[in-house]
Amino acid sequence: MPAKVGLQSVLDHAVAGERVTPEEALELYRNAPLHALGQAADAIRRRRYAGIEHIATYIIERNINYTNVCVTACKFCAFYAPPKSDKGWTRDLDDILRRCAETVQLGGTQIMFQGGHHPDFGVEYYEKHFAAIKKQFPQLVIHSLGASEVEHMAKVSGVSVEEAIRRIHAAGLDSFAGAGAELLPERPRKAIAPLKESGERWLEIMEMAHRLGVESTSTMLMGTGETNAERIEHLRMIRDVQDRTGGFRAFIPYTYQPENNHLRGQTQATIFEYLRMIAIARIFLDNVAHIQGSWLTVGKEAGQLSLHYGADDLGSVMLEENVVSSAGAKHRSNLMELIHLIRTAERVPAQRTTTYEHLVVHDDPANDPVDKHVVSHLSSTAIEGGTAHPELKLIDAE
Ligand code: SF4
Repeated sequence: MPAKVGLQSVLDHAVAGERVTPEEALELYRNAPLHALGQAADAIRRRRYAGIEHIATYIIERNINYTNVCVTACKFCAFYAPPKSDKGWTRDLDDILRRCAETVQLGGTQIMFQGGHHPDFGVEYYEKHFAAIKKQFPQLVIHSLGASEVEHMAKVSGVSVEEAIRRIHAAGLDSFAGAGAELLPERPRKAIAPLKESGERWLEIMEMAHRLGVESTSTMLMGTGETNAERIEHLRMIRDVQDRTGGFRAFIPYTYQPENNHLRGQTQATIFEYLRMIAIARIFLDNVAHIQGSWLTVGKEAGQLSLHYGADDLGSVMLEENVVSSAGAKHRSNLMELIHLIRTAERVPAQRTTTYEHLVVHDDPANDPVDKHVVSHLSSTAIEGGTAHPELKLIDAE
C-alpha cells in the first residue's frame, strides 16, 4: 500500500509540526484511514494544549434571534421569511433584554445575536440594541453577527463596511460569530446562497474586522453538495487570511439540516465525513487555536467522538437556538449532560469564556452543577411546541 505509506508520512510530518499543503490535505481527506487521521489530529491537539490536554471546554450562551425577516433567501435556510410575509416577526428590545436577563440568571456568559437581513435594519438598529444590552448587562459578551450582516447593514445605512464595524464595536459588539461563511468557494456558495456576498468578500470583511480589533470564529456548512476539493479550498481560504491577521479564534464545521428548506433531501454530510473534517481541520489549520465539535447538528455521540478527532471544545449548552433547529436539528442537551458527555469522552470538562479562558474546571464530579434549568430548549419557530415565539417561557419549559 505505497500510497497509504505516503499519507502516513504526511501525517507524521504534520504531527511533528510541519505545515500540510492543500494538495496533501485533499489526499488525506479523501484517502487516509479514518483512525490514522484521527490519531494524528489528536496528537496535534495534545501537543498544542500540552499541560491542559486532558481538558475539553464548553460555554453557556444563548442565541437571540431578533428577526427572521430576510431579503437573502438562502436555499439551505429554514429560518427566514421574506419581507411582507405573514410568517415574519421581529422581537422588540424588551423581549431581547428579558432573554439576556435569563441568560445571566442561568450562568450564561455570551449571547449570539443572529437574524435575517431585514430590509430596514441598518447600523443604527444594531448600535441601539448592543448599547442597551451592554448598559443593562455589562457582564454579557456580545459574540454575534458576521460579515454578511455587516455588509447588509452598511448598505442599508449607506455607510462603508469599515464604518459599520467601528460603530457596532463601539456600541458593544465584542466579537463576530463568523456565521454566513457557509461554503466560501464560488461554485457551491452560488448554488446555495446566490444572493449572499462572495466568499472572497466574506473573508475581506473578516480581515478588516480583525484589523479593527474585532476577532471572530469561522465556520463551515457541510453537506449541501460541495465536493471534497471545495471543502479543502474553504479551509485554505481561511488559513490564508489567518496567516495575515490571526483573528480567527476557532473553526466550527457543522452539518446541513434537510428540513423545511429548498435543498430538502438533496444531500447531507455523514458522520464519517464530519469526523474526517474535524481531523483535517486540526491538521491543516495550524494557525487556528480551537476546533469545535457541533453536537447540535451531528448529535451527542458524534460530538463526543469529535473530541478524539482533534476538537478541544464542544460548543455550548445553547439555551436557545432557532436557526438550525428550524431545519431539523432536534438534538437537545443541558449543562449536566454536556459535562457528562465530555467526561465520558475521557476529558475533564471546563466551562470557558468567549476567549477560551477556563472559568470552572469540573475536575471533581462531586462538585458538578445540579441546576436543571440550564437546558437547551426546543425553541424552533418551525417545530410544533417550539417556544421561541411569540411567548417567552424558557425556564419552565422542560
Ligand atoms: S441563512 Fe441568514 S441570510 Fe440566508 S436566508 Fe437564512 S437568515 Fe437570511
